[in-house]
Amino acid sequence: MSDLENELRRHFGYRSFRPYQKEVVESVLAESDTIAFLPTGMGKSLCYQLPAKLMTGLTIVVSPLVSLMEDQVIQLRSKGEKNAAHLSSLLSNEERRFVLKHLNRWSLLFVSPEMLSQQWLVKKLAARKVSLFVVDEAHCISQWGHEFRTDYLRLADVRKSLGQPVCLALTATATQEVEEDIVSKMHMVRPERFRAPVNRGNIFLQVHTCENEYEKQREFVKYLQGFAQPAICYAGTRQDAEDYAHLAAKTGGLRTAYYHGGVSKEDRIMIQQQFLNDELDMICATNAFGMGIDKSDIRTIIHLYLPQSVEQYLQETGRAGRDGGQSAAKMIVAGDDVRLSLRMLQRDLPDSRIIASIFPGGLYHRPFWNETAELAGLEDIYHRMLHFYLEQAGALKEGKWDYTVQTEEIKERLLERFRRRRFEKERQYKKMQEFLNKDTCIRALIRDYFNEEPESQLSLCCNVCHPNSQVDAKMNAGSFQTDSAPVNGSGSWRNMLQTILRQSEET
Ligand SMILES: [Zn+2]
Repeated sequence: MSDLENELRRHFGYRSFRPYQKEVVESVLAESDTIAFLPTGMGKSLCYQLPAKLMTGLTIVVSPLVSLMEDQVIQLRSKGEKNAAHLSSLLSNEERRFVLKHLNRWSLLFVSPEMLSQQWLVKKLAARKVSLFVVDEAHCISQWGHEFRTDYLRLADVRKSLGQPVCLALTATATQEVEEDIVSKMHMVRPERFRAPVNRGNIFLQVHTCENEYEKQREFVKYLQGFAQPAICYAGTRQDAEDYAHLAAKTGGLRTAYYHGGVSKEDRIMIQQQFLNDELDMICATNAFGMGIDKSDIRTIIHLYLPQSVEQYLQETGRAGRDGGQSAAKMIVAGDDVRLSLRMLQRDLPDSRIIASIFPGGLYHRPFWNETAELAGLEDIYHRMLHFYLEQAGALKEGKWDYTVQTEEIKERLLERFRRRRFEKERQYKKMQEFLNKDTCIRALIRDYFNEEPESQLSLCCNVCHPNSQVDAKMNAGSFQTDSAPVNGSGSWRNMLQTILRQSEET
């Protein structure tokens, strides 16, 4: 057993690495910038958790979702890790002060890109030796990846201010375009690259299109007869998540819960723990659920909406069957769902009416940016995005409009940028719509999209290749063991929740 494997066992209790983990960890420890594409569930987080144990300085992990950060810290604490913390808007002022005051105590610090755009924080962090700068879900950096976030574009500068520590970029799926974009935006120097295939042979892919909502519900209920559990069911809206959770409980007799951004923090923790402890058969959720979930035996992913891109589809279906066992991904959508996803996608970016209203001459324009944004009623995400672009273009200086520059020109450039970006998103969405074709192998579509080589013949490919198959509960019965580290021995989620809450109070 090598030294690294000994360390793995000592710190995490695993006997061996999953594919690519060891190579990524070695690369980081050799101080090479590293970019790794690991499908969800291949243990991405270990790629920085282990180096954080072995390197002397601080490891900073930039993470896109505050709830995800919090989940990760909670999970680490439940495994006895005391040196991890997170800084985000979810903390109270007092909690935040505590984290900052004891900065020397942490070896692993999760931060949102929005927090890192604050100079005072970067200064404070720079006073410590930072050994590793991790960008999780790194596709968010790229304007070609979904979930594009402008605060990510400042990360290269942040990294520079921290003394240019080794950079590790992690993502589940990304095209070549996105890969090059990440490397250039993060100023990575000759990075080591690792890419695991995205096509997972143990997940049987099915797509079912329905005429209307009624038929969709009927197909859903029919599918629940004998399907393999546990399952995550992704819905397009919060209301759908709730409705389908009730439907599954009522008609399938399943232990279900719903999970979305409107559920309280305590309930979200509780639901996650119940799911991890096999006390729930199905979670119906919006896509807020699942990023940080470390459960290797999820058997089925159901989509009740059409994801916005192939990447997103793979990220979500990839949560099934991490233990290698036979699993399934079933999509059930009606015409309305296709229109809903398109509408949501178009809303991701401000339209020309909004842009016109905030620029000089516009209805909501005021000399200060914050005032303009407030009057226009901009959502937080638009507020930040526009602030970033306007500042970058020189139209805003220290929160004030600069009338000495050609704002009209800047406005045109901005409109053009959003036009192109919207066009690109729609192109990605059209790719996803091809999945609704009834006569093309779904796996072949994915392979083409990522330029991957065909794999050997699968016994369960997709419902085009194997129309009358279903993955059922009996398929994996007792046939393999998972290699997850044991979670807290106490068993019940109630005890576990109490332990976790106690630990968060202590810190
Ligand atoms: Zn197929």
